[in-house]
Amino acid sequence: MKQLVIASGKGGAGKTTLAAAFASIVKNAVFADCDVDASNLHLIFHPEIKERFNFKGMDVATVDHEKCIMCMECKNSCRFDAITEKIEILPEKCEGCGVCEYVCPTDAIKMVENIAGETYVSSSRFGWLVHARLNIGEEPSGKLVSIVRNKAKEIAEKYGKEFIIIDSSPGVGCPVIASIGGANLVVVVVEATAAAIHDMKRVMEVANHFKVPYVVCINKYNINEEKTKEIENFCMDNGIKIVGKIPYDTVVTEAMVNGKTIVEYDKKMAELIEDIWINVEENL
Ligand code: SF4
Ligand code: SF4
Repeated sequence: MKQLVIASGKGGAGKTTLAAAFASIVKNAVFADCDVDASNLHLIFHPEIKERFNFKGMDVATVDHEKCIMCMECKNSCRFDAITEKIEILPEKCEGCGVCEYVCPTDAIKMVENIAGETYVSSSRFGWLVHARLNIGEEPSGKLVSIVRNKAKEIAEKYGKEFIIIDSSPGVGCPVIASIGGANLVVVVVEATAAAIHDMKRVMEVANHFKVPYVVCINKYNINEEKTKEIENFCMDNGIKIVGKIPYDTVVTEAMVNGKTIVEYDKKMAELIEDIWINVEENL
């Protein structure tokens, strides 16, 4: 089983568009939406949830005010300013370190499990999708990405699927590291914009670190031909394969608005994405 990651140095570069487009073409895959902070593959997949699981985040402190004698030990010991003058815990600031529980002389503080969101295994017209939803205020984490990836692997093994296609978080933080580590190939989606090469290099550095090979797909290449040339030159100088170039076209937005992939929506785009997939598969 091969794991393909669609990544980009910043959000909005078009990686979800490409991941969804592959869904229309690659029939033997499980899809994993690891962009857990802004997951949106489900808007195109229209999945039917078959299984759901609670995602446990960090434990958080809770106070039993009946036992509290307002000694302020906990507040003075909390390095994250997560406890107010009235000894209320601010869950969004609590880092779950447990120091307050340790210092409390009356046992008024307990660390409790925090359900930070849910993960889902869903069926769709493109097959299986594993995705997640974080509760409001919860931070995206590498742990959640790993849970989504592991579940996708489990499903792929169970149903004998050949590929896992991962829509990664953007950027280079923990969720991206958790998306890329151990994969077989990364498609770095890059737009022809001023910061493009910088963003692209950052993702490549993560891939290099984990020794995962990568290829490049240029999105909206026709909005700035000069920048596209710069990306092409960079890739050529560094022996990086460009698997395709997607033009700026209003059909991309129209397809999204209609809850469809660009392959389903537009014949020319379908041909282009098919060629890109052939190039990707050659490198997988
Ligand atoms: S668990 Fe740590 S971060 Fe949270 S309130 Fe207690 S001392 Fe502060
Ligand atoms: S350490 Fe315990 S008793 Fe003291 S203020 Fe905090 S919760 Fe209350």
